[in-house]
Amino acid sequence: MKKTLIVGGRVIDPSQNLDRQTNVLIEDDRIAAYDVPSNGQDTIIDAHGKIVSPGLIDMHVHLREPGREEDETIETGTAAALAGGFTSIVCIPNTEPPIDSQGAVEFIQHQAARADNCNVYIAACVSKDREGKQLAEIGQLVRAGAVAFTDDGTPVYDAELMRRAFEYCLMFDRPVLNHAEVLELTRGGVMHEGKTSMLLGLAGMPAAAEDVMTSRDIALAEATGGRLHIMHVSTAGSVEVIRRAKRRDVCVTTEVCPHHFTLTDECLRQFDSNYKMSPPLRAQSDVDACIAGLVDGTIDVICTDHAPHAREKKMQELDRAPFGIVGLETALGLVVTKLIEPGHLDWPGAIAKMTMNPARIVGIERGTLAVG
Ligand SMILES: [Zn+2]
Ligand SMILES: [Zn+2]
Repeated sequence: MKKTLIVGGRVIDPSQNLDRQTNVLIEDDRIAAYDVPSNGQDTIIDAHGKIVSPGLIDMHVHLREPGREEDETIETGTAAALAGGFTSIVCIPNTEPPIDSQGAVEFIQHQAARADNCNVYIAACVSKDREGKQLAEIGQLVRAGAVAFTDDGTPVYDAELMRRAFEYCLMFDRPVLNHAEVLELTRGGVMHEGKTSMLLGLAGMPAAAEDVMTSRDIALAEATGGRLHIMHVSTAGSVEVIRRAKRRDVCVTTEVCPHHFTLTDECLRQFDSNYKMSPPLRAQSDVDACIAGLVDGTIDVICTDHAPHAREKKMQELDRAPFGIVGLETALGLVVTKLIEPGHLDWPGAIAKMTMNPARIVGIERGTLAVG
């Protein structure tokens, strides 16, 4: 048996309410005990002055493979994850073809095993071909290993389909992850609709487009008892309706991405398409609301919506460039400088939103340093 001892670190594991300096003994690949003195273990890692935490989990990553390997592959995306401290990720199924079948799930599992970087879990499509018309084979996909369901890239538009998705996923205790956007309100938009979009003469995407669908999804989750997870929340309005829904014990969770708690629509003054993403960068009041939501627990998870595009695609004029920004390698740094250092979150609070909370939402045995 190979013994590894991590010595003298500040061990923060929110799943056990643990935050103290101690030694962690690992036997082979499992946590074996705490408070063990160093006495000739095979490997001793000095962690004085460092934090020891469970590997981070990112439950919203676009790996682009299959179909758009010029943007990212499972190998490069999982390497980026590891570089950013993420040892488990959930990949989103808007690939080409979309991950809507057992075979497609198995392909991802195979490529992830071949890359051998981090653990890859799979969110599969809600609808066949991600077309929003017919429900995908939810039961079969769960058996293949799908941990959640989403048509992200686009919303599940048809309310009837969304209702049935909640009902089916409930049978397997899986969450439905929705990209909340009313497309009629955002057609042609490249940035948040507000003072800056007016000044710049750019087509806007109003906050209401997100708020309306967040409210619809909550109403349907409440009606069915289904498990709703609102993806990449970005508006003050949505944070508030989710806060109120949680008070009524609706089964809703949500996430925020680093760009939405660090940047505003003012960045678009540079006409740099790297700032073009969906949902768009919002106003400062929305940024403040997202931070308040993180602080009071309305927002459960910090994830990246890592969405790379090949340079030649992103380097087009604003209205032609695709939506999306990378995030895996910068997320933790932004959490430290924008949330922990200013005192919005403490370390255990921030780590909980990047380990235990996403693990619970997608139902995986990760995000903990518990013995075993
Ligand atoms: Zn999305
Ligand atoms: Zn996404």
